[in-house]
Amino acid sequence: MTLSRISRRQLLAGAGGFALLTGLAPARLLASAPQLQGNPFTLGVAAGDPHPDGFVIWTRLAPQPLAEHSGMPMTAFPVQWEVAEDEHFARVVQHGVHIARPELGHSVHVEVAGLAPQRPYWYRFHLADASSQTGRARTAPAAGSLPGQLRIAVAGCQHYESGLFTAYRHLANDGDFDALFHYGDYIYEGPAGKGVTLDGQRILVREHVGDEIYDLADYRRRYAQYKGDADLQAAHAAVAFIPSFDDHEVDNNWAGDYDQDGVPVPAFVLRRAAALQAWYENMPVRRAQMARPDGLTMHRRLDYGRLLRVHVLDTRSQRSNQFCSKPGQPHCRTDHGGPDSMLGAAQEHWLAQGLDNPAHWNLLAQQVVCMPLDRRRPQASEAVLSDDGWDGYPQARARLARAIGQQGKGNVVIATGDVHQHYVGHLPSTPDDPASPALASEFVCTSISSNGDGSLLRRGQEHYLSNNPHISFNNAQRGYQVFEVSAQRWTTELKVVDRVQSAGGALSTVARFQVEPGRPQPQRL
Ligand code: FE
Ligand code: CA
Repeated sequence: MTLSRISRRQLLAGAGGFALLTGLAPARLLASAPQLQGNPFTLGVAAGDPHPDGFVIWTRLAPQPLAEHSGMPMTAFPVQWEVAEDEHFARVVQHGVHIARPELGHSVHVEVAGLAPQRPYWYRFHLADASSQTGRARTAPAAGSLPGQLRIAVAGCQHYESGLFTAYRHLANDGDFDALFHYGDYIYEGPAGKGVTLDGQRILVREHVGDEIYDLADYRRRYAQYKGDADLQAAHAAVAFIPSFDDHEVDNNWAGDYDQDGVPVPAFVLRRAAALQAWYENMPVRRAQMARPDGLTMHRRLDYGRLLRVHVLDTRSQRSNQFCSKPGQPHCRTDHGGPDSMLGAAQEHWLAQGLDNPAHWNLLAQQVVCMPLDRRRPQASEAVLSDDGWDGYPQARARLARAIGQQGKGNVVIATGDVHQHYVGHLPSTPDDPASPALASEFVCTSISSNGDGSLLRRGQEHYLSNNPHISFNNAQRGYQVFEVSAQRWTTELKVVDRVQSAGGALSTVARFQVEPGRPQPQRL
């Protein structure tokens, strides 16, 4: 049975719960809804946060993506959804109706449950005569089971103006993934035409619409522009995402209640609330991640049987402010040796507790570089460290290192984004001492498009590897990573495309690394 053939009576019968919420039955809503000017499914579909019995399926109604309200009349619309065991929807196993509300940007988040573990499903949406494209997602393995192998992609940092999303097209064609961890910078907040300037050269491949984004309508429109990209839509349709956010979903280098420009806190937290509401509306995440006026709860865990526990961390919204690194910098920590926090006390406690588990592997799915990364020039006497990464939060990192050390199994892998380069290395057990024993492997993933074409190594940074003996690999092209995880070994493939500033970039694997359980130090294959 396909949903286009569902009768008005079935629709009413299947959606009784929603009638209570709206005061209107879906069929009546549909009958009374204004006609849409165009296909409402221009932003594609997505699935996310797989559990053994289901995942979230997502879409957002946007007949005219860049117009006011994305071309939607300001009323609620009943959207039909269906999940099938086959891509032709011959065996539909679940279906229902979800009310897409103007309060939430006409987004649709359905937490599908009751599915079988560790298998692919296909999903799509319908509204009146229009149907969405079909997406595919896998459920997680059953609790307590030990799957033979998982394949998890890692991607993020997709600045629209500085490159095409070619790497996502390759990812969509790159076989069967269990999930994709997105480390953030899904959108960038900058104004049209700014692009990125590297080594004195401006890169501007295509333009944002509008000025720097501040209010909810601005953020919604920016997501609509990014989500119109066909390569990004292909990636979403191919694999369930595990979304997170970093700074550019809100504003460059924001930290907790502070932006980097010294805007008063009561004003900045309103901007942050608008940004995080738009993030929720546009990501396939669960109700536990729903936006609230004071922000949202992004950190969460996903289990893949006894093989892998994924701890999705929020290194942005609970952190204390950055060090003061520039004269006159507003809103910064002046006490360099003083207390700092990257996760906030509650999340830090949650992580330390959750590391103690029977899984073969623990993945810290997070955003900013955790291992030390000394950027000093050759012959310089003092270390040059990022204030925005864990290097800027030494007390918090020492506490994290203690928690990993106390867990003591040597099975922690850290996934990172933010710096637009691939780096492979490890967190030393005494983070300030690169010669101390390895505590956790870290795979820093490059960007989908941010910084444009790139090069094997970034000019002026060729000495970073010799500065940092615990880092064994660096590449500054665009791409993504693939984790292949089994009980015996963890393998990471570093993928790159040869260009993103023009179409047709070719994909290659630039390096492969392996980690064995109990030996948290990546070995090149
Ligand atoms: Fe970025
Ligand atoms: Ca970032």
